[in-house]
Amino acid sequence: KIVMGIESSCDETGVGIVALADDGTMELLADEVASSVELHARFGGVVPEVASRAHLEAMVPTMRRALSDSGITLSDVDAIAVTCGPGLAGALLVGVSAAKAYAAALDVPLYGVNHLPGHVAADTLEHGPLPSSCLALLVSGGHTQLLRVDDLATKITELGFTIDDAAGEAYDKVARVLGLPYPGGPPIDRAAQVGSDSIAFPRGLTGPRDAKYDFSFSGLKTAVARWVEAREANGEPVPVDDVCASFQEAVADVLTAKAVRAATDLGIGTLVVSGGVAANSRLKALARQRCDEAGITLRVPRPRLCTDNGAMIAALGAHVVAAGVQPSTLDLSADPALPVSVVSV
Ligand code: ATP
Ligand code: MG
Ligand code: FE
Repeated sequence: KIVMGIESSCDETGVGIVALADDGTMELLADEVASSVELHARFGGVVPEVASRAHLEAMVPTMRRALSDSGITLSDVDAIAVTCGPGLAGALLVGVSAAKAYAAALDVPLYGVNHLPGHVAADTLEHGPLPSSCLALLVSGGHTQLLRVDDLATKITELGFTIDDAAGEAYDKVARVLGLPYPGGPPIDRAAQVGSDSIAFPRGLTGPRDAKYDFSFSGLKTAVARWVEAREANGEPVPVDDVCASFQEAVADVLTAKAVRAATDLGIGTLVVSGGVAANSRLKALARQRCDEAGITLRVPRPRLCTDNGAMIAALGAHVVAAGVQPSTLDLSADPALPVSVVSV
């Protein structure tokens, strides 16, 4: 079965195509992404109206490129999956409307799926099926969550989440404080590799009485801003590389400590780390080290599959199809606040 996935929840227009074999294995046939990130860069964050407009312009060309990459034609498509939430309402609507139109025109089933488990599904394209239970650390621009995944298509439980900023959001805000470009993850990651972890920044929610699996990054972001302001007020130069390395260490430390602790507490042997921040070099290295020490199998998809794309939606759609879940109806709408436990609508 050929499953096409459409993604438009934020600033990436993605169309992915996956071939699902009878034995449940999947092959990625195409993964085309058009990003409007440069349009948002000067605002330091995604501007919803600009994103919606860009999706509208990019949707059909991106779909055509995906079809031509895969060597299939529209008539070969057996099912269409689309991100119906969470995300920006206007942005989501572009993908949902396109998916409905294609599903109706081609007379194939439509599956409205959740963007967040989509990030986890991306890993199955690279590393194959998940074990019967695993833990997923989802770290992106809008979300930071620890999930228990018993079945990617039907059973996902949220164990913890950020009570304020998402990890990616903290990266973007710290980059702004340091005068680095948006999005902040890549430039901070690069600067951190030449800097040293020499500044003690706080680790949010790691006290004995704090919720075990929740996260907080807003205090860390403020601590970095105060530290930089204090240097500037004294007329001293800001050691940007060291600030980046120290901030990055604080983020990676908390994320990996909590994820490994949850896996150990629950007796789960596999951790999947995904979402845009999973592209981070230090997070991957520290997760590798701590998982090795704890005897946990670590899975992190390649960076291209970590950030938003249509392939992950096609993959999740294929899991949902394989699980025999009922398709969505044509009155499917976008839900900007779709809870992570609702995998398909
Ligand atoms: P969500 O999935 O929550 O709706 P989103 O789709 O905008 O949010 P992604 O595209 O998955 O998020 O990830 C974007 C985020 O990843 C940005 O905040 C960006 O700074 C961050 N990021 C990208 N590369 C890196 C990196 N190497 N290190 C740290 N963060 C990174
Ligand atoms: Mg993005
Ligand atoms: Fe995302």
